[in-house]
Amino acid sequence: MINLLDLQFNEMEELMKKLGQPKFRAVQVFGWLYKEAGKGAADFDDMKNIPAELRHKLAEISVIGLPRILKVQESKLDGTRKYLFGLSDGNAVESVFMRYKFGNSICVSSQAGCRMGCSFCASTLGGLARSLTAGEIAGQILSAERDTGERISHVVVMGSGEPFDNYENLSSFIRVINNPKGLNIGMRNITVSTCGIVPMIERFGEDFPQVNLAISLHASDNQRRSSLMPVNRKYPLDELISACRRYSDRTSRRVTFEYTLVKGMNDSESDADKLADLLRGMLCHVNLIPLNTVRERDFETTGKAVAQKFRERLESRGIPATIRRELGDDIDAACGQLRRSIMTEK
Ligand code: SAH
Repeated sequence: MINLLDLQFNEMEELMKKLGQPKFRAVQVFGWLYKEAGKGAADFDDMKNIPAELRHKLAEISVIGLPRILKVQESKLDGTRKYLFGLSDGNAVESVFMRYKFGNSICVSSQAGCRMGCSFCASTLGGLARSLTAGEIAGQILSAERDTGERISHVVVMGSGEPFDNYENLSSFIRVINNPKGLNIGMRNITVSTCGIVPMIERFGEDFPQVNLAISLHASDNQRRSSLMPVNRKYPLDELISACRRYSDRTSRRVTFEYTLVKGMNDSESDADKLADLLRGMLCHVNLIPLNTVRERDFETTGKAVAQKFRERLESRGIPATIRRELGDDIDAACGQLRRSIMTEK
């Protein structure tokens, strides 16, 4: 069975041609899949202007593979909605829907589980189950739009999984949600976050110069970064930072560095100085993330005052920095926590 959500528009055209349909049917069917604010088709019978014969034919050979909502938690503080979505093979992934002044944003997962092994992250606890297809990543946006009845204008690929460990499907996902005949989400409204798979940074800069790039950094020397993030042993800091400098030189885009503050581990003033030295002269921005404590992991959150000091120290050394607003603090919004809670409930 084909998942229609895995198809690019030109592939939909080819499918219609194979079924002996006129060209405009591709526009119609594609339009039904991606109608705004969740008004799209969940079923072939929803496709009102498509002849019954074609609807039946499509139902024989394909599915509209929307992820099912297994669980949803809504924050009473800010309306953030965290979903646990079930995929067709029984795997589950998380997405987080957030309301901002500029519009609605969703954080989607690119893999079920993760094999990168970062020591503070819940997604990686059970290893990688599998990578998601493009349609399964896009389906998270569509299912959240159906559930809320609201349009989503911004997408961050920052849920569980390493997007650059699933590059082909990630690319196909970006192209399909960017298509004006579909969701029409602007390239500049999409952000991809990576733990730092260096060769893919170069490729991403060539393929998607307008999509925002975020790098999970978390430490500014190899020893500590390798102990937090095993990927650093393969792609050490100097290679990572050079790749980021080349990326921003070539694309003229600002790189975001995510830096999770862990108490007593990477949050001192001299850590801030080291970080500023590392990034000096690069078009960049540091996003300081208060650690979400994970039950299985023995790390503590940096206090607000220390985080503020860290930010000021970076800024005084010429590195723009913000502290991430904590949305959904009351609903286990950290990566992988909800999926984990279901896995351990079993
Ligand atoms: N694999 C990608 C994207 C997923 S993780 C990456 O590494 O960037 C998204 C972000 O959340 C990363 O910066 C990650 O390091 C961070 N993160 C993971 N667990 C966290 C936790 N317990 N508290 C705070 N941030 C966490």
